[in-house]
Amino acid sequence: MEKRKKTLHDHFAVIEKMLLTGFAVMLLPIFFESKLWTWVLMFLGFGIMAAACIYRNIYFKCPHCDSKLNVRGVPTYCPDCGEKLI
Ligand SMILES: [Zn+2]
Repeated sequence: MEKRKKTLHDHFAVIEKMLLTGFAVMLLPIFFESKLWTWVLMFLGFGIMAAACIYRNIYFKCPHCDSKLNVRGVPTYCPDCGEKLI
């Protein structure tokens, strides 16, 4: 069976979910009284967001010139080399 190649939109969806999950985890301490949990969850949320940034640096880039793309969305054209991305 042929595996479908991941598109920039697929990678973007992964990054978006990771950032949202990290953000949600960092907000969880609101529901905890414990200081320990606050630190654990803040650290965990930060870790997930950092992982999202690393993922972005590895996969979310122009397939033509390898220039890193902005995480705000998938541009139609590469801002660096001007090649069509989608
Ligand atoms: Zn490019």
